[in-house]
Amino acid sequence: MDCLFCKIIAGEIPSTIVYEDADCIAIRDINPQAPTHVLVIPRAHYANLTEAATADPALVGRLMRACTEVAKREGVSEDGYRVVTNIGVNGAQSVQHLHLHVLGGVKLTERMA
Ligand code: AMP
Repeated sequence: MDCLFCKIIAGEIPSTIVYEDADCIAIRDINPQAPTHVLVIPRAHYANLTEAATADPALVGRLMRACTEVAKREGVSEDGYRVVTNIGVNGAQSVQHLHLHVLGGVKLTERMA
């Protein structure tokens, strides 16, 4: 499968890994939108949250926990941060492999919901 994040997980494309466990890796976003911008990416390929939550809802819970662990390691846990996942065309998802954005280190202003 020609998937960017599968290639990163396989080590075929370099990345900066800040956390990993049995379920996921967490890497620095190549185009950071905040001082901390980390992507939590499941090792298993799911196109997006909808697909993963249907196939393996417990995995989604563990990914959320991984996000909180990343936030602690990045030192943004106390001041607060944001976890975002974009889904599909209207969600402006650009990589079709589920990933959770962990954003922090600055007061995030734009708020859509
Ligand atoms: P999304 O638009 O929600 O699908 O997010 C995809 C994210 O992947 C964007 O924030 C990109 O900057 C990021 N990205 C794309 N290619 C790479 C890469 N090779 N390494 C790290 N992050 C990447």
